[in-house]
Amino acid sequence: MKFIFEFIDILTSNQKYNLFIIQILIIVMSLFELVSIISIAPFMTILTDPNLIFSNYYLYFFYDYFSFTNKNNFLISLALLVFSLFCISMIISMYTTWRLLKFSQRVGAEISISLFKHYLGQNWIFHSQNSSNDFSRKIFEEVKRLTGGIIQPLLNLNNKLILSVIMLVAIFIYNFSIALSSFIIFGTIYFVLFIFLRKKLFENSEKISYLNRNRYNILGEAFGGIKELLINKKSKIFVNEFIDSNIKFASTHSANQSFAQLPRYAIELIGIGSILLLTLYLLILNDSELNVLFTTLSIFALAGYKILPAFQQIFASIATIKGNLSAFYSINEELKTFYAKQKQKQDYEDNLSFNNSITLKEICFKYSGKKIKALNNITLEIKKSSKIGIVGKSGSGKSTLIDIISGLIENYDGKLLVDNIEIDFSNISFWKERISYIPQNIFLFDSTILENITFEKDISKIDEEKLNFSLSVSLSDEFVFSLPNKIQSHVGQGGVQLSGGQRQRIGIARALYLDKDIIIFDEATNSLDLETEKKIFKNIVSLSSNKTIIVVTHRLETLSSFDNIFFINNSEIQLSGKYNYLINNNESFRNLLIDKNGK
Ligand code: ADP
Ligand code: MG
Repeated sequence: MKFIFEFIDILTSNQKYNLFIIQILIIVMSLFELVSIISIAPFMTILTDPNLIFSNYYLYFFYDYFSFTNKNNFLISLALLVFSLFCISMIISMYTTWRLLKFSQRVGAEISISLFKHYLGQNWIFHSQNSSNDFSRKIFEEVKRLTGGIIQPLLNLNNKLILSVIMLVAIFIYNFSIALSSFIIFGTIYFVLFIFLRKKLFENSEKISYLNRNRYNILGEAFGGIKELLINKKSKIFVNEFIDSNIKFASTHSANQSFAQLPRYAIELIGIGSILLLTLYLLILNDSELNVLFTTLSIFALAGYKILPAFQQIFASIATIKGNLSAFYSINEELKTFYAKQKQKQDYEDNLSFNNSITLKEICFKYSGKKIKALNNITLEIKKSSKIGIVGKSGSGKSTLIDIISGLIENYDGKLLVDNIEIDFSNISFWKERISYIPQNIFLFDSTILENITFEKDISKIDEEKLNFSLSVSLSDEFVFSLPNKIQSHVGQGGVQLSGGQRQRIGIARALYLDKDIIIFDEATNSLDLETEKKIFKNIVSLSSNKTIIVVTHRLETLSSFDNIFFINNSEIQLSGKYNYLINNNESFRNLLIDKNGK
């Protein structure tokens, strides 16, 4: 099975070490199980023929050495010895099982963490092309299938395989012909069943992955658009799809689970039959003596008692792994890229300065799958501490431009320079550090206003002066302090308990609190009324004179005091200059103004 190597490949060195320890434990455990079972044999033999104690050299040696005085005492001690062997064996088994379960859950947890980090580390383009429902599903469902459906069965398989091999070797040595015939009978049954079920198991596995994906998407979409669903009464469509996926999921999943258990019953039956057959064979055909018969039977019964469940578990493990393999493959690539990146990640030095300007040189960018460039040949300069406006019709490329300036998009043509140093993979994270960005849809998490602004749980770490400044500049203070719990009020998931304009003001307060060199507003004020918007920007311009401010807005008047305005039309900069200059010199710019005011 090729996948075992692929699996070991994604383990970290620490995980590999633990796996190795478990491997050793498994071997020790199997040996102990074997020894404890074998120890039954002399006990049974003596039980049927107590005189052996005196005729057998070794037995007599022990009898003599420990100065036993009668046979019964010797037998009782022997029984205790056998029993303690079983006890030790059981303790080792319990410990190994615990380590094994702990290991697989731990690996699962670590894989979830790595995947989460991996997705968070992807750039904006990746996220805009993939669904976050998919990420959640992989992080939870596929990893759960990986731990419960692949790692655990794999270790279990390994465990039982070693146990069976050791036991088989032992019973083959003990009685070759009986061992061989039982091995052939049971081996064939399992093998045939496996061949028949193999394809179905893997097919179902992929189906489970697919259905799971559906289930997550339906949930994500339904709850994501809950308001419209409630008003338009369209929840039924989602419910029906959800029912469909869930029912199919249940039947596919249970089918795979049953396939794994299927042979058990047949085998149990055949097991009992074989013991009866063996008894008859030994008794009638071989005409064995009673004590030989008794010992042989007990050995085989006990070995069978251990080996058959082991066989069953080997089968069930392989079936379960087959039935969940798709989960492994669905996250394998991502994990590999994550670890590879992790390895090559070097510690770059933060030698990025921002004292003079940001320069864009001949920037071109096209979204994959789009025919038209979103940005075409953009060259511009933004001086430190200046206040910059970006305007243009919707779809003209304003957000794309912002995304490039702020380092969200990386694979563009042309150059982004800061103080004449090109921004590349070595310094992009330092560049992002200097920027705070306020999008149109502010992301608020389900916590208090305070935490949403400061990202800080520990109140003692909050800079109160800065907080008050942020609240007043963003004009949030008034509404925040009118709430019953003031700044400690909860905003609800995604901020549903606030109005659009309140959310935007919290977003602005957050950006101000972050106190970065550069603050970018991408239509971040469009839910506010014109007066409020103007006031906020007036505040920001006068109170944050050392900050570089970049604002995308449709309300051109807001920008009347700004240092420079770039007017973007059809992916290109059509014109730039101060507000008055643009008004007086460009008709499309004037039209834009009329457009918006006429709205
Ligand atoms: P604006 O912010 O000026 O409204 P955008 O920069 O968002 O415009 O979009 C410019 C063009 O790029 C549009 O044609 C839009 O359809 C396209 N676009 C924007 N974002 C993406 C994306 N994530 N994937 C593909 N195309 C996009
Ligand atoms: Mg936009």
